[in-house]
Amino acid sequence: MVHNLNEGIAKEYCVNMKKKSRINISDVISPGLYCVGSFASVNDESAWVVDILKNRAVSSSQNVQLFQRLIKNGLLFMSALYKKGKRNSSYCKYKTIDGILKYGNIKSFIKVSCKCTSPCSCHTEYLALVKPVPVQSFDVRHLFEFDAINVVNTVFNIDIVCLQDLDTVMFMIKCAGKKYLVEPLNKFEME
Ligand SMILES: [Zn+2]
Repeated sequence: MVHNLNEGIAKEYCVNMKKKSRINISDVISPGLYCVGSFASVNDESAWVVDILKNRAVSSSQNVQLFQRLIKNGLLFMSALYKKGKRNSSYCKYKTIDGILKYGNIKSFIKVSCKCTSPCSCHTEYLALVKPVPVQSFDVRHLFEFDAINVVNTVFNIDIVCLQDLDTVMFMIKCAGKKYLVEPLNKFEME
C-alpha cells in the first residue's frame, strides 16, 4: 500500500511510521488519515455492528469490515476491541452529526466498501462507532470526571462518527475510586 503512494510528505510519514513502531498501515484514507492493522469481516460476535448501521442504508451489495486502529494527524486512536498494550486508551473526544461535543469509548472502526470485482468509482466509507460516556467538567480545564456508574455496557445509544469528527484521544485515570478522562498534554498546551 505504502509503495503505491506518490513521493512526498505522506509517503515519508508512512514509511517513518512503519519503521518507528512497525505499524502496519492498511489503508490511506486521506493525507494524515490511515487505517492501521488488518480488516476483519463481521462475525457472530460483531453482528451488532450491522444492527447499528441498519439506519445508514448499508445494502447487501456492500462489504462491512471492522478495524481497530486509526492514525489521524499523528495521533493513534484505538478501539476497546484492541487488546494489545495496556497503556493505550480507547477513549476519545468527538463531535456528533449535530455538532455536539461528547466523550466516549470507541467500540470499533468500520469500513464500508463495495463488492465490485472490476475497477469502479464507488465511495468507500470509514466510520467510528463510539459509545458516549457521561462526564462532569471541573474547574481544571481538560479534566473530566467520568460517571462510570451510569455507563451501561450495551450496544444501544452508540454514535456513528465520521472520522473527521474524531477530535482527540482521551486518557482514563483512576484516583480515589473515581475515574477521570484527561486530554493529552501536547494538545492543550498548544491552545
Ligand atoms: Zn464499486
